[in-house]
Amino acid sequence: MKFFSTLALLTLVGTCATPKYTLKIENLKDSITLVDTTVVNKFSRTITANELKTQLYKFASEDFQGRKAGEKGQKLAADFLQSYYIKEGIASPLGNTNYFQNIAPSYLPQGVDSTENVLAYIKGSEKPDEIIVLSAHLDHLGVEDGKTHYGADDDGSGTVAILEIAQAFKYAAANGYTPKRSVLFTHFTAEEIGQIGSRYYVENPIFPLENTVANLNIDMIGRVDDKHTENKNYVYLIGSDRISKELHYVSEAVGKQYSDINLDYTYNSLNDRNQYYSRSDHYKFALRGIPVIFYFNGEHADYHKHTDTPDKIDYELLEKRTRLIFATLWQLANQERRIASDENSVFLN
Ligand SMILES: [Zn+2]
Repeated sequence: MKFFSTLALLTLVGTCATPKYTLKIENLKDSITLVDTTVVNKFSRTITANELKTQLYKFASEDFQGRKAGEKGQKLAADFLQSYYIKEGIASPLGNTNYFQNIAPSYLPQGVDSTENVLAYIKGSEKPDEIIVLSAHLDHLGVEDGKTHYGADDDGSGTVAILEIAQAFKYAAANGYTPKRSVLFTHFTAEEIGQIGSRYYVENPIFPLENTVANLNIDMIGRVDDKHTENKNYVYLIGSDRISKELHYVSEAVGKQYSDINLDYTYNSLNDRNQYYSRSDHYKFALRGIPVIFYFNGEHADYHKHTDTPDKIDYELLEKRTRLIFATLWQLANQERRIASDENSVFLN
């Protein structure tokens, strides 16, 4: 009886393109198996609101003068990130204790003499050549009209999320859970002046792009926008299904398993007038056919103003969102099968 009905279903859907595609998607979803749930829960808990807060009060402080690409404050911010990775014992993919990928002068506009991406990584234990890139931009707007633009949310929030996620991966590795694939922690420079750091990276990658499995990019995850004042338990995901449906469904499965956060796809709409999909560093990876997810809280009254300060960040929410991204990254780095773009998917072709 059961066999018959399955056969009947297959015959039926074979006659119509849309149900057939629906079945393929169902098969794809069914094939996703979450890995290491106990381990993920354990190390996810090392990411705390308190640590995020401590790091962000430093990173978005007067010390770094708004981190304008090429200026002293940005250099100090890059030094700060490098020192962090050295202290945590997280390696540079460039070797020894240099974590800076210097941007070639030809990429830089007049007035910017030099600037650098900051890169750290944990080498995979089984498939070290396959890389998952986690990114956020380290630069912001600097000082304008005598006012420091602290950029606590933009993108101090994404920066400190990476620091905490990297530390969680390091703790896990020290306890015998090295990720199967390599994970690259990437702090792009010069995003605010045209995504220059990410463009430089994809044109001069440290690891071949064909082995770059996915890019998870974080740009502003510490605040709540006007649409969510009633229920702030959300994060916008943009781009997750555009190149790889498999990435999208992995992300959904992870969300369901580990988090009560509402994954909001409002801005993923192709017709959305804001076109956020093209407005942060992940886009440079997407243009190369690499699956991406952009994590974002939406705009708010302090966006690109000097009033984007660390006291306005919701640290409990930042913790939740960071833990979600950690769990997603963990799954991508450790699941048996490398996620495929739709083009290469055995399920969709
Ligand atoms: Zn930003």
